[in-house]
Amino acid sequence: MPYLELTFNIPVKQNYTYASSAAIPIGCRVKAELGSQKRSAWVVGQAESPPDFLNRLKTIESQIDTEPLFDLEFLELAKWLSELTMCSLGETLAAMLPGGRSESRKPDDAFHEHGSEIVEALSFDQSYALKNIEASENGWFYLYGITGSGKTEVFLRAAQAVIEKGNSVIYLVPEIALTHHLVGNLKSRFQGLVAILHSALSNSKRLSEWRRIQSGAARFVLGARSAVFAPLKRLGLIVIDEEHEASYKSDAAPRYHARQVAMRRCKKEGSLLLMGSATPSLEAWQLMKSGRLKSLELGGRPAGGAAPVSRIVDLRKEKTILSGQLMDAISRVLGKGRQVLLFLNRRGFSYQFFCHSCGEGVLCRNCSVPLIFHKSTSTMNCHYCGFRMKPIQICPNCSSLEIKFTGFGTERIEEDIRKIFPKKQVVRLDTDVAKKANVLEEALRGFREGSIDVLLGTQMIAKGLNAPGLKLVGLLFADSSLNLPDFRAAERTFALIVQVSGRSGRFLPDGEVIVQTLRPNTAAVQMAVEGRIEDFYEYELGIRKTLHLPPFSRIFRIVFEGKNKTKVNETSKQFASTLGRAAGGEILGPAECAVARISGRYRYHLMLRSDNFDVTHSALATILSKFLPRSGVRIKVDIDPSSLL
Ligand code: ADP
Ligand code: ZN
Ligand code: ZN
Repeated sequence: MPYLELTFNIPVKQNYTYASSAAIPIGCRVKAELGSQKRSAWVVGQAESPPDFLNRLKTIESQIDTEPLFDLEFLELAKWLSELTMCSLGETLAAMLPGGRSESRKPDDAFHEHGSEIVEALSFDQSYALKNIEASENGWFYLYGITGSGKTEVFLRAAQAVIEKGNSVIYLVPEIALTHHLVGNLKSRFQGLVAILHSALSNSKRLSEWRRIQSGAARFVLGARSAVFAPLKRLGLIVIDEEHEASYKSDAAPRYHARQVAMRRCKKEGSLLLMGSATPSLEAWQLMKSGRLKSLELGGRPAGGAAPVSRIVDLRKEKTILSGQLMDAISRVLGKGRQVLLFLNRRGFSYQFFCHSCGEGVLCRNCSVPLIFHKSTSTMNCHYCGFRMKPIQICPNCSSLEIKFTGFGTERIEEDIRKIFPKKQVVRLDTDVAKKANVLEEALRGFREGSIDVLLGTQMIAKGLNAPGLKLVGLLFADSSLNLPDFRAAERTFALIVQVSGRSGRFLPDGEVIVQTLRPNTAAVQMAVEGRIEDFYEYELGIRKTLHLPPFSRIFRIVFEGKNKTKVNETSKQFASTLGRAAGGEILGPAECAVARISGRYRYHLMLRSDNFDVTHSALATILSKFLPRSGVRIKVDIDPSSLL
């Protein structure tokens, strides 16, 4: 009887040996009992001889896959990733592989394609970049080009050359829902070779796409973060578009960064790596400076645009978020039949409730974050745990009736703009609206084609929007990400202003941008508005160097969570003292997290700042394997965290 080594999707860093009546290949899923529960598991090893606890050996219930989902090379990548992120192999495989039992043969109709633009001649910068890329088999390149400089065309032509050689391509984007225009373009260039991995796919559809990739029928894979694991043979190129985006870092176990995995795969498989952005991450910037990434620059806007004219509005001098200057600009632009894009970094109608007697806000009862009023549902919602309640009439703290809203949100601004311009088409796009099927896609198309006059939205409109009639971009409140207690706050704010601003002036050289802020003197805001990209990087690198923060050090964040606050706090202190000097880094904390409670769980964290990644990593892994938290306390490790909240 053969013996199989199985791994389950549980946070236990251990594999289990089972007996099997048939030889099942590595890479297949099986059903097996763990404890008293039947679960699915992956076969990760085979053994000829039984383990020494033979009398308690369990037998596999059934086999799920007949063909393996992965091979030994993939398993090696999974093991590497599970060690790097300090997760179990099972948790890691669960994040890398598709779920689902049966394989769907239905066509994928989740995506409607749009006609694609044809670029006839490359600009000088584009051809120069492409020549460099094509001359290399396995180089690492960074396409650093202003917004609208035509990075996509370079990515696609580099991909085409790789496909023509019979090799395959992974093309990563931050968010697949925003890439409808790209999908049309890909399908016309690469036809049946394209596979799209996105979260809207059903499990069975994901599995059948996975099979098409494994078989070599699909050689161009488009997807978000996890598409970096696509099981392509003869991988010739990985593209990471908008490399600076935080969505490339997973916020659940395994907490990996797609860039990290891409670097590893490209090194092992001898492939080209091509990243790009108008606002690289500071990590990438530093790698370009050191020469480990070869920087290729794109200057102009080949579709006929030019950098927009930007100005700052000091909100401290304004009574409302729709400032006089902004309203004048909107009516002027709409009067000429052109379009306006308004960006607000925040959802909901009014920001939060506020008691004028005692000064308290109303927080979620499970999480320590303010509840946000949503007019469309007439509820106060928690954006962390989804808790909802009817708007309160009386302050829960002091029983006063003097409850008011403070702040503003997209719903409220939409209402105001509609009142002022009743004849114009105004559309709001945020995650609330975009949950409805096709709303996002139709709004983006309507704006592109000119049937929408004002598009108002949150984060999701910062990317991918390419509308010829767009003249004015307004950032209603550029500070909202500046106030976060996170060392990346300035970098994020800078990137956001540059990216959102870059939606205007893409086709015509008359773009305008208005950036409203309470902090007009902040370097990130000023340099973004003045388009001083390189100055900002030098400035911010200087600060990071002084404070010994990434990219001049690495950060390991350890989060402690549990229902009993005392136990969480004590565990964090014990952990810190166990770490002591052993990990070779500097310990910051432990302290309460900025979001001190989520879904009823109290949160503490500590940060380890290290100069020697390997030493700290292995010391931390050893301590974690031995450390016993107080009961009910969970420990999470996040290496190179992208958020510290
Ligand atoms: P970004 O660098 O911001 O990703 P895009 O790749 O979206 O820029 O390109 C911006 C616009 O310029 C697109 O509409 C694209 O079709 C157009 N474009 C790109 N290259 C050329 C070119 N060589 N000639 C004319 N238009 C181009
Ligand atoms: Zn009160
Ligand atoms: Zn909550």
